[in-house]
Amino acid sequence: MSQQPEAFYDYVIIGSGFGGSVSALRLSEKGYKVLVIEKGKWWKPQDFPKTNWRLSKWLWLPSLQLKGFFKMTFLRHVGILSGVGVGGGSLVYANTLPRPKDAFFQSGSWAGAAHWKEELEPFYKEAERMLGADRNPRLFDSDVALRQVAKDMGHEPEFEATDVAVFFGEPEVTVPDPFFKGKGPDRAGCTHCGGCMTGCRYNAKNTLDKNYLYLAQKKGAQVLAERKVVDVRPEGAADGSEGYVITYQHSTSWFAGPKQQVRAKGVVFSGGVLGTVRMLLDMKAKGLPNISDKIGDDIRTNNESLVLVHSRDKEKDFSKGVAIGSIFPPDDDSHVEPVRYGSGSGFFKLLGIPMIYGKNAWVRIGKLLVHLITHPLEMPRILFSKNFSKESMILLFMQHLDSTLRFKRGMFNLTSTVSTGKAPTSFIPRAKELAERTAKVIKGAPFVMTTEVLFGIPTTAHILGGSVIGKTPEEGVLDADQHVFGYENMIVCDGSAISANPGVNPSLTITAMTERTMSKIPEKKGY
Ligand SMILES: Cc1cc2nc3c(=O)[nH]c(=O)nc-3n(C[C@H](O)[C@H](O)[C@H](O)COP(=O)(O)OP(=O)(O)OC[C@H]3O[C@@H](n4cnc5c(N)ncnc54)[C@H](O)[C@@H]3O)c2cc1C
Ligand code: SF4
Repeated sequence: MSQQPEAFYDYVIIGSGFGGSVSALRLSEKGYKVLVIEKGKWWKPQDFPKTNWRLSKWLWLPSLQLKGFFKMTFLRHVGILSGVGVGGGSLVYANTLPRPKDAFFQSGSWAGAAHWKEELEPFYKEAERMLGADRNPRLFDSDVALRQVAKDMGHEPEFEATDVAVFFGEPEVTVPDPFFKGKGPDRAGCTHCGGCMTGCRYNAKNTLDKNYLYLAQKKGAQVLAERKVVDVRPEGAADGSEGYVITYQHSTSWFAGPKQQVRAKGVVFSGGVLGTVRMLLDMKAKGLPNISDKIGDDIRTNNESLVLVHSRDKEKDFSKGVAIGSIFPPDDDSHVEPVRYGSGSGFFKLLGIPMIYGKNAWVRIGKLLVHLITHPLEMPRILFSKNFSKESMILLFMQHLDSTLRFKRGMFNLTSTVSTGKAPTSFIPRAKELAERTAKVIKGAPFVMTTEVLFGIPTTAHILGGSVIGKTPEEGVLDADQHVFGYENMIVCDGSAISANPGVNPSLTITAMTERTMSKIPEKKGY
C-alpha cells in the first residue's frame, strides 16, 4: 500500500507499468532507495468490476470521477487504449507475451546501436520467467475459428496457442506462491473466464503487483499511488549530475491540492508513451533544452488494426478462455490474434459500426449508408444483443512494417502530426481480408470503431516510441543504455523507448529491454 514518502531517494521511478516495475525491483536489489510514483490506484482482485459496464471501476477519466484502470485517448491521427494503476498496463492487458521476429531488431532508429537480438536474448528469458509465461493449455471457440482461418489461408502449421502470463493451477484453488520459491504472493488457478482485460477477479493473472513490484516492495521500494508527477528539474548542476527535484500532485481527488516535492539522485521515466513523452516534451520546453529534438518523434502503433466480428451463431461462446489464446502469422510481416472479453462485458458495442473501406470520409459515409440500408438488421443485432462478448470475437492484427507519427505539446493534451514516412492507417487490406474470412467462418459481420470509418483514425492498444534509442542525439532521445542524451542519471524504461515496430504485443520486449538497462547499473557503493 502507499506510504508517506521521505525527502530523498536514490531513484524516483515515474509510473509502475512494465518498465517501472522491473526498474523498481532491480534497483532495490542493488541497494538503492527507490520510490515509485503512480497516478492510478491500487487494485485487489475483488475490487475489479464484473463487466466493463461498470464504468466507474473500469474507465480512467478522473475529471468525471471515473477512477478505473482503462484509458482511451483520441488524438487527430490515432486512438490509444492504455492502462493506469499500480501495475500499469498489466492490469488491463491480455497477458500475451510473444517475441518479435528478427526484422524488429534490425530496423528503426536503434538499428546498429547494439547487437539487439543477441544482447536481449538472456533478458527475454528472464522476462518470461519473471512474468510467468506459460503456454495456454486450452483453446476455445474463437481460437478454433482462428485456426480455421489459418487453415483456409494455408497457414495452419504456424497456428499456435499463446504464451501468457497466467497461473494455470487448479481453477480457483489458492496455493502458496508457485513462481518465486515462496517469496511471492499466494495465487489461484485460472478459470478461463475471459475477464483478463477487465481485471482478473480470481488472482490468476500475473500482473506486475504480483511479481516484479511485489518483490521490489519486499526489498524496500516504496510505492506512492494516486499521485501524478507534473515536473522534473535538475537540482544544482543543469545536467542533473547533482540530482533532481520531482514535483507531484494528487490525481484522483476533485482538487489536485498543493504541489509536493521529493528529491532524488536519478529519475526513471516509466509513464508509458502518453506519460513519458508528455513529461519530456514539457521539460524540454520549460528549461531542459538539451533533451534531443527527436522527443515526440517516431511514434508507432505496431501498424495495428482492431476488428470486432459479431456472430449470428448462438451455439458458440466467444467469451471463454484467456483473453488471447492463440496466434498465427498470415504473412511474413503480420500476426493476428483473437481477443475476448468475459461474459457480460459489452461496452464496445456502443462504439462500433460496420467495417467500411474507402479512400476518403465522404466515400466511406456513402458506402456506410448503402450498407446500413442493404443490411438493416446488422446494427440492431449488435445494439440489442443480450450478451455481446459471448457473441463476438475481436481480431487483433499487428505488423512490423513501418509507419510513424510525431506527438507535440497541445494546450490540454498531446497532439499528433505526420512527420516523416507513412502515418498509421485504419485501412490495411490484409486486416480486411482476415476480418472477412473470420466473419465467414463464424457466420458474422465485421465492425470497427466509429472513429475509423468517419475519420480514418486507427485504434491501437500498443502505442510505442516517442523517446527512441539512437546512436546520437540527432537520431534518438536515448543512448543504447536508455539514458537520456545530455543529462545524467535520467533514464527512460517503457514503451516510449521501443524504436521499431515489433509487430507483436510489446510488453515482453519492454520488460526485456528494461532488464538489460538495469543490468548495466552498478550496485550502490558500499552495498
Ligand atoms: C486492452 C489492452 C490489452 C493489451 N494486451 C496486451 C497483451 O496481451 N500483451 C502485451 O504485450 N501488451 C498488451 N497491451 C499493451 C501493454 O499494456 C503496454 O504495451 C504496456 O503496458 C506498456 O508498458 P509501459 O512500461 O510502457 O507502461 P504502462 O504499462 O503503460 O505503465 C505506465 C504507468 O505510468 C503511469 N503514469 C503515466 N504518467 C504518469 C505521471 N505523470 N505520474 C505518475 N504516473 C504516471 C500510468 O498511470 C501507468 O500506470 C495491452 C494494452 C491494452 C490497453
Ligand atoms: S481467464 Fe479469468 S481467471 Fe484466467 S487470468 Fe483471465 S481473468 Fe483471470
